[in-house]
This record gives sequence, C-alpha cells and structure tokens, in this order.
Amino acid sequence: SSFNRLLIVSYRLPFTIQQTDEGPEILQNSGGLVSAVLSMAEQMGQNQGKSATKIHWFGHGDSSLQQLGPSALENDTFVAHPVFMDEAVHKGFYEGFSNDLIWPLFHYFPSYASFKEHDFDCYRQANTRFLEELTALIEPGDLVWIHDFQLMLLPDLLRQAMPDTSLGYFFHIPFPTYEIIKLLPRTWRQSLIQGVLGADVVGFHTTDYVQHFMQSVSEVLDLPIIGQRVVLPDRSIHVNAFPVSIDFNKFNTSGQDSEVFATRQHYMNLLRHNKIIFSVDRLDYTKGITSRLQGYERFLIQNPDWHDKVTFVMTVVPSRDKISQYQELKREIEETIGRINGLFGTIGWRPIVYSYRSLTFTELLALYTACDIALITPIRDGMNLVCKEFIASRQDHKGVLILSELAGAAQELRDAIIINPTDTQEVADAIQQALFMPLAEQEKRLLRMRNHLQNHNVFRWSHNFLTAFNDMITNPTDLE
Ligand code: UDP
Repeated sequence: SSFNRLLIVSYRLPFTIQQTDEGPEILQNSGGLVSAVLSMAEQMGQNQGKSATKIHWFGHGDSSLQQLGPSALENDTFVAHPVFMDEAVHKGFYEGFSNDLIWPLFHYFPSYASFKEHDFDCYRQANTRFLEELTALIEPGDLVWIHDFQLMLLPDLLRQAMPDTSLGYFFHIPFPTYEIIKLLPRTWRQSLIQGVLGADVVGFHTTDYVQHFMQSVSEVLDLPIIGQRVVLPDRSIHVNAFPVSIDFNKFNTSGQDSEVFATRQHYMNLLRHNKIIFSVDRLDYTKGITSRLQGYERFLIQNPDWHDKVTFVMTVVPSRDKISQYQELKREIEETIGRINGLFGTIGWRPIVYSYRSLTFTELLALYTACDIALITPIRDGMNLVCKEFIASRQDHKGVLILSELAGAAQELRDAIIINPTDTQEVADAIQQALFMPLAEQEKRLLRMRNHLQNHNVFRWSHNFLTAFNDMITNPTDLE
C-alpha cells in the first residue's frame, strides 16, 4: 500500500468525552467500525514497513466538544476532527434530510418520507462543512474513507476540490431499487448518485444493493457500466459488495467471561429456567417489532402447551424518540405487549419481559448466551449485526437463529431459520420448529454459521476494502 495516512469521515465521531484529572479526554467507543479502521491502519502501516501513523476521524461535533482544545481531541491512535455547523443547518441535514427522507425511503417506507427543499439545502451545506474541514488537513498520499447515507454528496465535492485524492465510500443501509430512487426529485437523485461516484471504490453490504445502485447510475446519469465498474471519461469507479461484520473473537470469548456467566445464571433463575426467546433492536419501524410480537402471539394461541414454559425477553434500545413517528411506534409496541401479557399472563408467568433501555455489554452477552432462540425479524435492514453477534457468542453450539429474509445478513447466514417477518404464521411456525429442534441440528447449523463468521469478520471486511483500493490504484484501466 502506498498510502500515507488514513482519514475516516462519518456522521458520528466514535468517541465520548471523559473527565480526567488532567482535564477532559476522548474515550474511544468500541464499535465494529473502530475495530475495522484500527486493523486497516495497521495493515497500511505494515505494508509500508513502519508503524501506523495516527488515524484522523472527522465527524459531527456537538456543542459539548466546542470547549475542548486540540490536545483533548487526541489519543494514542486517533485525532478527532469535530465538524461544527449551525444548529438549524444540522437539524435540516440530520433530522430532516437524513433521518426523515433517506432513511425511510431507502428502507422502503416511502409513505414515511418527507421531501423538503429546505432539508436538501441543509444537507448540501452540511456536506460542504465536512469538505471544508477535510481540505484543511488533507495531503497527497492520504486515503480518505467516507461512511454512510448522511454524506452522499461529499465524495464528489471532495473530488472536485482535490481531483487526485484516493477516496473510498461505504454505504451502511440498503440501496433500494430504481423505482424508489425515482421518487426523489430529478435534481436530488442526480446529485446523490453523482455525489457517491466521486469515490474510487464504492462498497455496499450485498450484491442486490450493488445491482440496485448500478441500475440507478445507468438510469439517472446514463453512464456506461462494465462489470463492477462505472466508466467516466477520465477514470472509473469500482463498485462491489463488502458485507460488514463483527469482531468474532471478541464475542466468542466474552461469552465465557465469568461476569457474563454469573449474569446469565441470574437471569435463568429469575425466569425459572423457561425457554428464552430474545430480541434486541433500536426503536425503529424498520425492525419489525410489532409483527414479531404478533408472530409470538399467534404462537401462544396455537400452542397452549407452551404457556408458562417460554419467556420472550424483548429489549428495545431508545433511539430518535423525540420524533413523533418513533413515539407512535413505541406506544404501539407497548400497547401490544400489554395486551399479550394481559391476555396470556398469570400470577407466576409473564409471556413477554420487556425493557426500553440500552444494555451493558455484559447484559447483552448474558442474554445472547442464555437464550434458546434469537428472534430477529426486521422488515428491512442493511445488514443486522445483532444476529452475527448472537452466533459468535455461542461457543456452546446451542441456540437457534430465526432471521428475516429482508436483513442483509440473510444472504450470508443460510443456516438460520429464514422467515418473512410480515407472515405471522411463518413466524409462529418458526418459533415452534426452533423450540423442538434437536441439539444435534442446532449444533450443525451453528457450526456452519460460526465458521463463516470466523472467516468473514470485520477485519476481513476492511482488508477486502483496502485490497480493492490497492488493485484499483495498481490497475486503474483493468475493466474485468
Ligand atoms: N447494541 C448497543 N446497545 C444495546 C444493545 C445493542 O449498542 O443496548 C449494539 C449491538 O451490539 C449491535 C448494534 O447495537 O452491535 C446494532 O447493530 P445492528 O446492525 O443490528 O442494527 P442498527 O442499530 O445499526 O440498525
């Protein structure tokens, strides 16, 4: 690799601020993207035969960062570059265009999408703010990696400003069919597709999303496509599937942690050793939480023998709950849970144990490893990491994954019980099938999926992305 530094750009900075004796400091979050980026920087350093230089990370700066001096924004591995912007611009950009238009539209909820010219203006201004911060730092030889749907215009803005930049872009949500893209005003869809094409390498989770994107490139911009490349007069863009993944070993070993073990035992005792069905998702209409509850209700209606012997532990993680759509969803979920518990519950048995809060890592791992069934039923999900984490944590080779065919992960995890989440009978049948599944079959399915994830982990993901880059640089005209 011939790259000098790695510059990451995402809406969110992967840090929280911590007060120490020496003043405020940034505390690195432990998400998958951080692990992937760290290993990518390491590979770049190794390839050059020198130790990796610090990674620069650009992300939206909220007001809590405004008072911090430059030294507080740096640790041994990262330099944080908060991108500050006008409050009103941020609102239109993030809550408006990103979360109120692109998010619902690209997850096939067009009726939830709100199309506001003002929001698009803010989106453009916010992307330009990111550009300004980037151009102040960037040097020849840097590799810039831009992430996700909040920054679709940025690759092309940067390409215009600095044509020689090496630029990658990864899209973390589904890319929908052209029939959906067509709902966007003509100038918006042109800008968004052209925006992404500023990159040298563009990545999506699945081959479906790649095909949808290519279809839009051809319909919206009428550009020629050869194999995995979009061909421009002066350069070409490599577009491919890079399914994001998890740090397999972290989940595999943490499942054996003594604190996790104790918490798991505690939960199992509290639930009187009932069979446990588990789900965890952010509060979002894409996650299929209500239809999941309806599937479970149908199972309870059809299987009275299982009453009192099974408990559904459902955790919903607070998210975007200032927005009325999300408040409405929360109300609907809680009403449905109340109704089901009221209908089937007894003094000694609650069919659904519900909480609306985030879990600690220990609690999450205890639930992944305590449950008999992970019930993951999004209506639409770019990838879904929860199901991968569940599988990685099951070193005991026990447990059954029920997974929606509408999650990107279903393309890889063929040994799950794959269901359609809106088909409540199919969900009910899958729960029954899972509860009766012999241990030998649970093990056989889990082994195959664990083997896949052990190889296709998050380090492989960033490695493949970097490799695509290097191939592109060494062979820019190879139109395979
Ligand atoms: N997670 C979390 N807090 C919790 C429970 C889970 O941060 O209380 C994590 C979980 O471990 C997973 C991520 O949130 O890594 C969810 O990722 P996924 O792709 O499944 O869904 P997303 O929320 O990104 O749509």
